[in-house]
Amino acid sequence: MDEDTAAVGSMSDSVENSLDPDNWQDFKALGHRMLDDMMSHLETVRERPVWTSIATDFCEHFQDPLPEDPQGALQAYEDFLTEIIPHHPALNIHPRFWGWVIGTGSPLGVLAEMLTAALNANVGGGNQIPVHVEVQVLDWCKEMLGYPKEASGVLVSGCSMANMIGLAVARNTKAGFDVRREGLQAAPQRMMFYTSTEAHSSIGRALSILGLGAGSLREVPTDADFRIDIPALEAMISDDRARGHRPVCVIGNAGTVNTGAFDDLERLATVCAREDTWLHVDGAFGAFAALSPKLRHLVAGMELADSLALDFHKWMHVPYEAGCVLVRSREDHVRTFSMNADYIHHTEPWFSDYGPQLSRSFRALKIWLSLKAHGVGTYRGLVQQNVDLARYLEQHIRANPRLELLAPVVLNIVCFRHLDPRPGPVDPQELERCNRVLLMRMQGGGQVFLSDTLINGVFALRVSITNHRTRRADLDFLIEHMLTVGERVFRSPRVEAEP
Ligand SMILES: *Cc1c(COP(=O)(O)O)cnc(C)c1O
Repeated sequence: MDEDTAAVGSMSDSVENSLDPDNWQDFKALGHRMLDDMMSHLETVRERPVWTSIATDFCEHFQDPLPEDPQGALQAYEDFLTEIIPHHPALNIHPRFWGWVIGTGSPLGVLAEMLTAALNANVGGGNQIPVHVEVQVLDWCKEMLGYPKEASGVLVSGCSMANMIGLAVARNTKAGFDVRREGLQAAPQRMMFYTSTEAHSSIGRALSILGLGAGSLREVPTDADFRIDIPALEAMISDDRARGHRPVCVIGNAGTVNTGAFDDLERLATVCAREDTWLHVDGAFGAFAALSPKLRHLVAGMELADSLALDFHKWMHVPYEAGCVLVRSREDHVRTFSMNADYIHHTEPWFSDYGPQLSRSFRALKIWLSLKAHGVGTYRGLVQQNVDLARYLEQHIRANPRLELLAPVVLNIVCFRHLDPRPGPVDPQELERCNRVLLMRMQGGGQVFLSDTLINGVFALRVSITNHRTRRADLDFLIEHMLTVGERVFRSPRVEAEP
C-alpha cells in the first residue's frame, strides 16, 4: 500500500464528526425551552430591577480554563441561566431605562435573530435572496426618511461605522486627488471637516481612523438651542480657505446625543452647495423624526445630504447591531470601497463594494420582518409616543420648583437637575455633587435608570426615551422617586462621599 491509500483507509475507519446534535429531538426540545425562557424573560422584565451591580468576585466565573471536552448544549445553557441571566441587569430592555441612547429591542427581534443564524447567509454580494431583502430594506429606509430613491446604501454594525463610511466617501470625493491610490501622503492641502460642538464622539474618531486627524475637525459653536451657528461655520470655512486649507465636509446633526437638537439642515445644504463641500448628516436616532408628521419639520433638508448615517438598533428597536449609511451618489460610494479579486470576481457592485466588510451578516432580515410585522405606522406612533412622554416629563419638571430644566426639549431627551431646597446661598459645586449623588442613588436603587451629561458645563441628569415599553406612569414614578431620594440627599448639610 502506498502512503495515499493508507491515509484514505485510516480515515474511513475513524468517526467523522460534525456540530449537529446526535439527537435532533432532544435538541429541538432544548430550543423550545430556550425560546420559552427568553420570552418569559421579556414578559416579566418590568418585575426585575433595571440595574444591579455585579459582585466583584463574580467576574472570576469568567476566568475558567478553555474547555477541552464537551459539556453538552444542555449544561452550557444551564450555565447561561445561572452565570449570565441573574447577573445581567435588564438595563435597556426595561421600561424604566432612559440612559444614553439605547434601543429596547423586541420579542420579534429575538426570533428574527434565530432565523438569521439558521440561514447563516453571507451577504457580501451576488444574486441571492438576502441581497434582495437588503435592497428592499434600504428602499424602505429611504422612503421612511424621504431620502432620494436612487441613493445607494448598506447596512452596517452601527452609526459609528455608518459615520465613518460617509466621511470616507466625503474625503475621497472632495479631496481633489486620488486618495485611494495616492493616500493622504499626497494631499497638497490639509482637508478640513466642520461640525458643531454637540456632535457625537464617533465623528472625531472616524476622522482619526481615516488618517485625517481629529484635529482636522473644526468644532463650531452652537446657539442657545444647541444648533450649529451657521455664520460662525461660514467664517471658519473662509478662514481655513485663507490659510490654504481645503474645506471638504460639514457634518450636520439630526438629533444630538446631548439634547436631541437638530441643526438647520436646509441652510447647511445651501452653505455646502455654495462652498462645494460634502454634507454628511448624523441622524443616528433623530433621522426617524421623519416618520411623524408632527416632527418631520425638524429634519427638513436631511434629504439634501450627500450621505446620511442612522441606526436601526436605537429608535427602530431592532436588536443590536444594525446601522445604515445612505449615499446620494452611488458612483462616489462605490468608487471609495469597491474591491475585486480573481476569487470573487464580479461586474455589478456587491454590498462588499459599499463598505469595508467582505463577509456580512443578514442584518436586513430582522428589519424586514419587523417592518412587515408591525408596519411603519406602529413605528411612527412609537416615535411620537416617546416624544410625547418627553414633553410630559418636561411639564412635570417645569411645574416643580425643586427641579430645573437645563435644555429645550425638542425630541425625546430631557436634561434637568434637582435644585438645592436648603435655605441660604447656593454653592454650585455642592449642587453638582448632590445631583451626582442623587443620580448614583437612583441608579443603585435599581428602579429607574438615567444617565448624565454636561449642558454648557453644568452637570445635568439626562432622560433619553427611545423605549417602546415606557409608559406615562413610569415617568410619574421617576418624578416621585427622584423627589423622595432628593429629599434625603439634600437634607444632610454635607453629603458624605458614597462608599
Ligand atoms: C449612538 C450615536 C452614534 C453612534 O452610533 P453606534 O450605533 O453606537 O455606533 C452616533 N451619533 C449619534 C447622534 C448617536 O446617538
